[in-house]
Amino acid sequence: TTTENDTATETLSELAARVSETHKKRYGRSPEFIVAAPGRVNLIGEHIDYNDGFVLPMAIERYVVMAGSRPDDADEAQSQYHSISMDSSALLTSTDSPGSNPSAPGWACYVQGVLAGFQKPGRETPVLNVSFDSTVPLGGGLSSSAALEVATATLLEAATSTTLDMREKALICQKAEHDYAGVPCGIMDQFSSVFGKSGELMLLDCRSQEITAVPFGSDDITLLITNSNVKHELNGGEYAERRSQCDSALKKIGKSTWRDISIDDVEAARDQLSEPEYKRARHVVGEIERTTQAADAISAGRWEEVGELMYASHDSLSDDFEVSCDELDLLVDLARGINSEGGVIGSRMTGGGFGGCTVTLVKKDSAPALIDALITRYKAETGVEPSCFTSRPALGAHILPTS
Ligand code: ADP
Ligand code: MG
Repeated sequence: TTTENDTATETLSELAARVSETHKKRYGRSPEFIVAAPGRVNLIGEHIDYNDGFVLPMAIERYVVMAGSRPDDADEAQSQYHSISMDSSALLTSTDSPGSNPSAPGWACYVQGVLAGFQKPGRETPVLNVSFDSTVPLGGGLSSSAALEVATATLLEAATSTTLDMREKALICQKAEHDYAGVPCGIMDQFSSVFGKSGELMLLDCRSQEITAVPFGSDDITLLITNSNVKHELNGGEYAERRSQCDSALKKIGKSTWRDISIDDVEAARDQLSEPEYKRARHVVGEIERTTQAADAISAGRWEEVGELMYASHDSLSDDFEVSCDELDLLVDLARGINSEGGVIGSRMTGGGFGGCTVTLVKKDSAPALIDALITRYKAETGVEPSCFTSRPALGAHILPTS
């Protein structure tokens, strides 16, 4: 389900057909296995994954598709992975250690990490010739990296006729991102790509790693993802600073987890907290509450309430957590101005901040007009063209037919 504005984007079956065709040309055989793994977006619950909080993500209808076949030479020791869009390839084995392949393309570390994580006594990582491509925008905060990892794991499952425990699979992929790509991510990205279900969001408890399904009942509502196409953060410093401010605030408030802290506790500790610590604490406590409320409201179809929670989340990220930027604020303000009369339910920044995407709940029928308005007005004010597409909650990683 796409709007007029994303007609340029391939559907999953078009992408699969093209990857399959390219694979055949490159390796001289049709793929024996084809798999897909989606990107993800987080509806609410920002900057609380590392604070024992909740996130409420869904898989999106954008995928990494990977095709594989066994090499002609049964004694071949290395797998060959080929990124179609980047026109680069890497020769990999499951015993490569992190950083052992400095001349390999940048993306190879994600694949390598999964090959290594899959391998264990009684579970050999197969040698394969592989081709892949993606409709998840790269580096846009929609987790193309997790989609790549999860696609790799799913291809290995298909090629070995095994089914990994889904939790184990997501954790293998997370570990690949940690150890091989050097990105200390939480569990949301890989869990979303593995556990995604069409028509459902997932409330993910980042403390217990427990998932609660949140049915996204209304067929007439969709999610608009708008990439501001700006990136202001020059280094990873802001993220590390927020984390340490949260940790020091938690210590000063005197509890072991944010889950045991109310807004009254934050107010009572205000004198001990620096101004930034106080504001960060207010965001964390408020956002934890908003995220569970949003899950309840979505399940019950109370959309107006969901919208209010999204705007409140954005304002808190902008004012208290201070991770928004003019462009994200502008996109949210434009959506807010168009409001329910224009079919808009709610809008907020999503992801780490300082650029990247906003997520907007909108009536399906109103999405094309909203997209036109956002593109025109955002471009007029910033000189930058945003990218927009809609998605309903999508199915997580799965094996596709090879025909
Ligand atoms: P995000 O996950 O938000 O898209 P990341 O920086 O975490 O951004 O991951 C992007 C990286 O993932 C790319 O730079 C590239 O190394 C890798 N990647 C993802 N998809 C592909 C692809 N289809 N082909 C090659 N590399 C890819
Ligand atoms: Mg990523």
